[in-house]
Amino acid sequence: MSTALFTEPEGGHSLIQISSKDELIRQKVADERRRLEREAGIEGQSARQFHKPIERPFTKWQRDDTTLLFGGLTWKHEKLIHGALESLGYKCQAMPVPDKRAFQLGKEYGNNGQCNPTHFTVGNLVQFVQRLEESGLSKQEIIDQYVFFTAGACGPCRFGMYEAEYRLALRNAGFDGFRVLLFQQSGGLNQAEAEAGLEMNLDFFLNILNAMNIGDIINDVAYQIRAFEVNPGETDRVLDDGMNLLHDVMRRKRPWTLEGKLASLLRKTNFAGTAEYLGKFLNQLYGDDYTAALHEVRDRFNAIPIDRTRVKPIVKITGEFWAQTTEGDGNFNMFKFLEREGAQVLVEPIGTWIMYMIHQAKQQIRDQRGLDLIQRNVPRWNLKEVFSSHLNTRQRLAKLTVAEVIFKREYHRLIDALGGIAHHLTDQYELQRLGHPFYNSRAGGGEGHLEVAKNIYYSNKDLAHMVLSLKPFGCMPSTQSDGAQSAVVSNYKDMIFIPVETSGEGDVNAHSRVQMALGEAKVRAKNEMKRVLEETGANLDDVRAFVQEHPEMQRPMYKYGHRTGVVGVAANFVVHAAERMKSERRATVSLQPSVVSYH
Ligand code: SF4
Repeated sequence: MSTALFTEPEGGHSLIQISSKDELIRQKVADERRRLEREAGIEGQSARQFHKPIERPFTKWQRDDTTLLFGGLTWKHEKLIHGALESLGYKCQAMPVPDKRAFQLGKEYGNNGQCNPTHFTVGNLVQFVQRLEESGLSKQEIIDQYVFFTAGACGPCRFGMYEAEYRLALRNAGFDGFRVLLFQQSGGLNQAEAEAGLEMNLDFFLNILNAMNIGDIINDVAYQIRAFEVNPGETDRVLDDGMNLLHDVMRRKRPWTLEGKLASLLRKTNFAGTAEYLGKFLNQLYGDDYTAALHEVRDRFNAIPIDRTRVKPIVKITGEFWAQTTEGDGNFNMFKFLEREGAQVLVEPIGTWIMYMIHQAKQQIRDQRGLDLIQRNVPRWNLKEVFSSHLNTRQRLAKLTVAEVIFKREYHRLIDALGGIAHHLTDQYELQRLGHPFYNSRAGGGEGHLEVAKNIYYSNKDLAHMVLSLKPFGCMPSTQSDGAQSAVVSNYKDMIFIPVETSGEGDVNAHSRVQMALGEAKVRAKNEMKRVLEETGANLDDVRAFVQEHPEMQRPMYKYGHRTGVVGVAANFVVHAAERMKSERRATVSLQPSVVSYH
């Protein structure tokens, strides 16, 4: 026991007896708590535990008369998710893309202090149910016949509050009792509850993941082709057709189940469940329902003539998950604006986010290795316990590694089926390596270190002329990474990086800021083309004439490679065309009959 001089919060000192450093800390914390409670006028009051309101369940028996509402991604992802849910027997409907009116409603009925995507998405749901009411349904009919399902998380950013926000805004708008269903982002592949209306089991997650992956890939390909299409609007027409076809395929695909004699045999044993699980996985890994449909869509895309010799700056989109994904007022319709301004947009796939979550889960397991032993006071020489804790960590890591490998494999298999031109998933370990010196990769919430890491990755690996980060107003993690980005930009002097705060207003201001940065990116793309033409000795008119003579080079699925130090599509294509022109010329010369003279 010893004594220490303790400084009172209001000033002045007192001598206190302490048994250890820990005790001193505990006392300081208790005193500080008392001071804060005094300040807030709640001293001596006991806290009441918050309990989540008990919600009317959505049961299996209500499925046929209840419509599942969902939204928040691009219309391509949503159309495929729609098909995926229909194939599982659900009645469903994708919500419209949130607009400014939705944003205003979100502010009106929800909590004003939330981040901007909350206002848009929450207001969108309120707007949707209000429109249903305007169309003649009563409030009770809407509450009985519709449920909303969305992703949930426990924070630490405001994402953890979305569920509560939906309920609050619906209640304030007069739709108290409207059901909001959540699937946890980190909840694994089985979140099914018996008799639940929405069964979140393996079939559900496989269907949703396939829909999201195909959505990512087709989205990427469409943005790549649209920028160079010869006939304006053709890409969108083909995309519409392709999406209808894929939606149909997703809707018709039935989940794999054990059937026939083997099924009845296995059902008599304890292995039926495992065999069914295994069968579903194998069907996922080797089935060709999706790849065959993607081949068909690939051929349709490949019939669109494109002109790759147009010089366009590549703009990589990063930022907060929703702001970088939505294609509407939520990010000032930024993608359309960029395309109108002559840029090629490089969109961010949802797949990166899924890989990030797996990566972070692995990181956490590694960081917590052995903590259970300390917690249980297990001595080091208790080899049995130490070994079993070690084995447990290894097993959990191995499971996530398998998930990583399978997810990547499936994603890239779909890319190949759609012609192989979509971008592969970015390596999470490389992103961590690049981002960690500027933004601690253990700091979770929002996009974590990804915003910083992607900026460095795309700028340094010759993948984009400019990086545009879409950061919602009021977003906590994005505000943090803003601070780190200034250190990044001063370290990598050459990068063109522009962060834009998205909100329900201020489109003109945001567009003109982007326009200014884009001007710089355009100059860079033009200079790059000039350099490439000088280095290869090619002439742009000759390249164009050569491409005219080689129709395969006007096709979107034509492969031409990516050169180190060359970013733009046009510049890379010219390097390739120049090489091909040279080699064809050489071949023509060697085929000329040699002139032999006889004297
Ligand atoms: S990442 Fe930012 S914008 Fe997105 S939910 Fe969290 S706080 Fe809101």
